[in-house]
Amino acid sequence: MSARVLDGQSLANRMQEEIKPQVKAFAAQCGRPPGLAIVLVGDDPASHVYVNHKVKAGTEAGFRVDLERMPANASLDDVLGLVERLNGSDEHDGILVQSPLPKAMGAGAEQRVFDTIAVEKDVDGFSAESVGLLVQKRPRLVACTPSGVIELLDRERIPIAGRHAVVVGRSDIVGKPMAMLLLHRDATVTIAHSRTPDLGRICRMGDILVAAVGKAGLIRRDYVKAGAIVIDVGVNRVTDPAVVSDLYPASHARQRVFEAKGSLLVGDVHPDVAEVAGAMTPVPGGVGPLTITMLMMNTLTAARARVAR
Ligand code: NAP
Repeated sequence: MSARVLDGQSLANRMQEEIKPQVKAFAAQCGRPPGLAIVLVGDDPASHVYVNHKVKAGTEAGFRVDLERMPANASLDDVLGLVERLNGSDEHDGILVQSPLPKAMGAGAEQRVFDTIAVEKDVDGFSAESVGLLVQKRPRLVACTPSGVIELLDRERIPIAGRHAVVVGRSDIVGKPMAMLLLHRDATVTIAHSRTPDLGRICRMGDILVAAVGKAGLIRRDYVKAGAIVIDVGVNRVTDPAVVSDLYPASHARQRVFEAKGSLLVGDVHPDVAEVAGAMTPVPGGVGPLTITMLMMNTLTAARARVAR
């Protein structure tokens, strides 16, 4: 058996096309496009790549996207001041502060910044207020990666209610909101993490198995119930040939990609899982592209809610 591929990339492309006329209609009605401000502090190369993708996707869909750059030596007060100014801006419906902030800002800086974003503009859904509302099943704007997973399950007509969902990973940005969204859709939810004994046994309980860990190929074939829906959130850049060889046979096309580039993007789920799963997201091209699309959806939702007030 070979699992059905849940093609997040093509769903993201379709959704981007669906969003465009809605953005246009908003702009025609309100005399301005929905606006997103992205705050980027410092020089983290991966953050630059992520932010460029967000700016490109937003601009192409017709949003106003303003990139607010701050130097790596900016103070926490500088960032908080910028967020406060954006909170008061009429042109900006969504505010996103790219994580991670420079380490020098200190532990807790990031959450302080997230918590300063006005709840109605919190398009990443990371503030304590946004998370609290989600937990109470009164969601406003929900974290983009887990809501992208729900969108994918819905569009692929995969039932959630009554099924056992296992989420591996308990981070504030993926694992916990993922578990909450599945719970609110009436799944029975188990959350596993690094201190969970016998992870394979726990994973095998899942009709839906979501891996959000950050460990290449952690979820092996024998961790997966036959026919399960497997969602791979993990994004791992692998540079060790031994790890790539554990994932793909020598003849596999992805080995050629690795040889050419010297690195390979892989998920948390071992490719062999395709032999037992019913359906599975690829990496790349699965959950990742949907995250940016959900950011656009959240910005549009925020804009509509602000003009309706
Ligand atoms: P994170 O904050 O590092 O959390 C990882 C979670 O995995 C933690 O809860 C950790 O447990 C758990 N874990 C670590 N090792 C484990 C093990 N051996 N067995 C079971 N659980 C283990 O990471 P994150 O921000 O949630 O991201 C997770 C992955 O998703 C990363 O690969 C990240 O790049 C990717 N990601 C992708 C997108 C996307 O758009 N596709 C978006 C966000 C994140 P403890 O809590 O016990 O430490």
